[in-house]
Amino acid sequence: MKRRVVVIGAGIAGLTAAAQLAHRGYDVHVVEKQAIPGGRAAQAQWEGFRFDLGPTLLFMLDVYRTAFASWGGDFDREVPTIRLRPNYTLHYPDGKSLVITSLLSETMASLDALAPGSSRGFLRYFAEAAESYEISRREFVGRRIPSFASFFTPNKLHALWKTGALARLATRAKQAFGDDRVAGVFSFQSMYLGMSPFDAPLLYRLLLFTELGEGIHYPIGGIGALARALHRAVIENGGAIHYATEVTGIEREGQRVVAVQTSSGRVEADLIVANADLPYVYGTLLGETQDRSLRMRHTPSALLLYLALDRRYDDLLHHEFLMPSDLQRTCDDIFRRGRIPDDPAIYLCAPGASDASMAPPGCEALYVLVPSPSLDSPMDWPAQTPAVIDRILRTIEERRLPGLRQRIRFMNHRTPVHFHDELNLNLGAAFGLSHDLLQIGPMRPDNRHARYRNLYFAGASTRPATGVPLVSMSAMQTVERILEEMPVA
Ligand SMILES: Cc1cc2nc3c(=O)[nH]c(=O)nc-3n(C[C@H](O)[C@H](O)[C@H](O)COP(=O)(O)OP(=O)(O)OC[C@H]3O[C@@H](n4cnc5c(N)ncnc54)[C@H](O)[C@@H]3O)c2cc1C
Repeated sequence: MKRRVVVIGAGIAGLTAAAQLAHRGYDVHVVEKQAIPGGRAAQAQWEGFRFDLGPTLLFMLDVYRTAFASWGGDFDREVPTIRLRPNYTLHYPDGKSLVITSLLSETMASLDALAPGSSRGFLRYFAEAAESYEISRREFVGRRIPSFASFFTPNKLHALWKTGALARLATRAKQAFGDDRVAGVFSFQSMYLGMSPFDAPLLYRLLLFTELGEGIHYPIGGIGALARALHRAVIENGGAIHYATEVTGIEREGQRVVAVQTSSGRVEADLIVANADLPYVYGTLLGETQDRSLRMRHTPSALLLYLALDRRYDDLLHHEFLMPSDLQRTCDDIFRRGRIPDDPAIYLCAPGASDASMAPPGCEALYVLVPSPSLDSPMDWPAQTPAVIDRILRTIEERRLPGLRQRIRFMNHRTPVHFHDELNLNLGAAFGLSHDLLQIGPMRPDNRHARYRNLYFAGASTRPATGVPLVSMSAMQTVERILEEMPVA
């Protein structure tokens, strides 16, 4: 008899774990609440337009190559990608803009045009970012942390210190560049992890190296192409996926989990991999009100607009940012005051710049992301959303895309309410648990339950972290542990 694994959730981590386990001979059943694969990284198809609903920036391709190779797949063949050049443009309220590209001399020239002399500290800062990236992958995220004690060795603590873990990202960027705007350019990436650059540890300057050193990539057909390829990998390796089926509880006997209850019946399991977000699994599926992960700090969230436009803007790059006049005030509004800023940071993604297949001819599937508080704030989302959307559209129209509102065929949106109700993310926190220093490494919840030793976790709120490549690593690390602790036969 094969061991039966129930995977709760067909997000990137759930599908990656499922494909690997199916390939290794486990009897794998993925149970997914939504009708489509990918979870936060799913893609919607609406009236001939395709929208990646969450992630739009693909980093660290070597991680997917390793994952696909583990089941005999070929990432580059199955998910063809292009590297974006330039990476993105940032626009400022005074009409100035800055082009960021992996051709470092061009980025430096662009920096000097924005703030004369500001490129002086760039190469050193970039080299430090590269070092932080290399150390973090080697010591902290690239491999499983077997125990708390194994992390706190003199070598590891020295490595952590070298990454500048204890300094503040925005403070160091200001020291390096002098100019507030340039400092913002080289620190705002911490918002990808749901952290304010003014609070984030300097460690996260590694994200700058990820973007500029390794590059920003785009899979033809959108990020949804990755989820679809993972779906195929599960099926081709003999696994089963049950979409539109919600797990409503986890049955336990003594120190083991034995089955899941779902919206269409009970499924027995020899082991469970929970890809649904970890605090939700503890709080809702296990009903463990005392678990410390429920008291941990969550990330804020995001307001997303998906605009089906009846035209393309020819000079619009694939990725652009409309920066606020005062990044610190904007971040403090979101992260401290729990409100959508009057002067928000706005991210635009126009995949039509790279891929004509995302919208009907001549049209654009424009994605807009505005960092926002989660449900743990005084905002009344249902009441306030229409006015907030109107304000964002007017801002984009005035600052970047003239006539925008007249060109919208239809529009859909997501708020933290959606992240909470549809994707089962506690507090609607789009990126899961926060990545402050006390919630990373061995302090982030383990990828196995302490009591139920056949209940494993894979995904954004367990180790190592959030982000598509990191949750893929999470899946691989969890599978490695399962192979050791519960071998297939
Ligand atoms: C707006 C946004 C933009 C982002 N941008 C980027 C980016 O550009 N680059 C990047 O690398 N990362 C980005 N991220 C982060 C990245 O999307 C996530 O870290 C990653 O996709 C999380 O994957 P996961 O497998 O851990 O979880 P999820 O994608 O949340 O998957 C969990 C799955 O479990 C399912 N589920 C939950 N409860 C149940 C239940 N009871 N029964 C059955 N199924 C259930 C959910 O429906 C979901 O499909 C972004 C995230 C968001 C929200």
